[in-house]
Amino acid sequence: MQNRAILYNFQTGHWQKYVYNLPTLKNDETLVKVAYAGLCGSDMHRIINPSKHESEIVMGHEVSGIVVASSNEKLVGKSVVVNPIGNCQKCFYCEHEQSQFCSNSRNIGKNVNGAFADYVIAPTKNIYITPADFPLELGVLADGVAVVLHSLQKLTFSPRSALIVGDGAMGCLFVAVLKALYSDIKIVLKGRHNIDLIKKMYHIDNEVKDEEFDLSVETVGRAQSDTLNDCIRQTVYGGSVLVTGVYPPDFTLSLDARTAFYKELKIYGINSFCVSAERDDFAEALQLIERHHNLFGSLITHYFSLDDFEKGVEKMSDKRNSPVVKVVYEPH
Ligand SMILES: [Zn+2]
Ligand SMILES: [Zn+2]
Repeated sequence: MQNRAILYNFQTGHWQKYVYNLPTLKNDETLVKVAYAGLCGSDMHRIINPSKHESEIVMGHEVSGIVVASSNEKLVGKSVVVNPIGNCQKCFYCEHEQSQFCSNSRNIGKNVNGAFADYVIAPTKNIYITPADFPLELGVLADGVAVVLHSLQKLTFSPRSALIVGDGAMGCLFVAVLKALYSDIKIVLKGRHNIDLIKKMYHIDNEVKDEEFDLSVETVGRAQSDTLNDCIRQTVYGGSVLVTGVYPPDFTLSLDARTAFYKELKIYGINSFCVSAERDDFAEALQLIERHHNLFGSLITHYFSLDDFEKGVEKMSDKRNSPVVKVVYEPH
């Protein structure tokens, strides 16, 4: 069976359609016809700087669709969302409820072909049937929502106030999840491009000068220290800081350590999310999105066909003219 997918063509310098033969399904795999594939911030780095080494793997790890064939026949024809993280289930971390640290994981869109394509193959254990009436396009948010839920599990208290630094998809998802979990929470979002849209959508507060929050969330990362230090300075004594931003490999932060330690802050780095026998962040994410789909619906701001792949990328890289939270591709 043939699959049309998006790959980088070094000759033309464009991301374009490429047709290849899908391998035969193994006895623990499922073939999904892609309905929606989200463009993630983590894809953008590879798209902007294509490398020979990575360019043979089809990207796209935020995916929902319809099962065409599966090792579990009951799945055929069902609407599903795919958990992109293929944990080994055998290593120390997988066996100790910390699958986010699995070093043998084979992830869709990273180590194995992903969903910027007509079809994607995933391990059957990674296939989640959507609840009835689940808007299938919202399945692309499950990966990010699972990370948010995973990070909030670090907290030992229910936050009454939160500062979210960064208004990209991750920052916006934090606003939506916190609103869903704690309806009375006071949220302040700091950002540049999507802030007006999000403020209107979630009726969140304006910042008061010198205000401090129970919880601060850093979602920006990159080679700079300002946003984490903003979080540290605006968190209450004994409060918590969650860091989901991604820092470059050789970057060393310049940290306001005096304030952080004086306030006895708890600063948590966040890697990904956990799926284990005891807890399944991905399943919880789907349930939360279903229960509060009105809170999540407007986060998908743009739809493109796969033929317009580069237009979606351009939209994501240039947010000057209009807000862009989540760009989604529809292959069919
Ligand atoms: Zn993602
Ligand atoms: Zn493992």
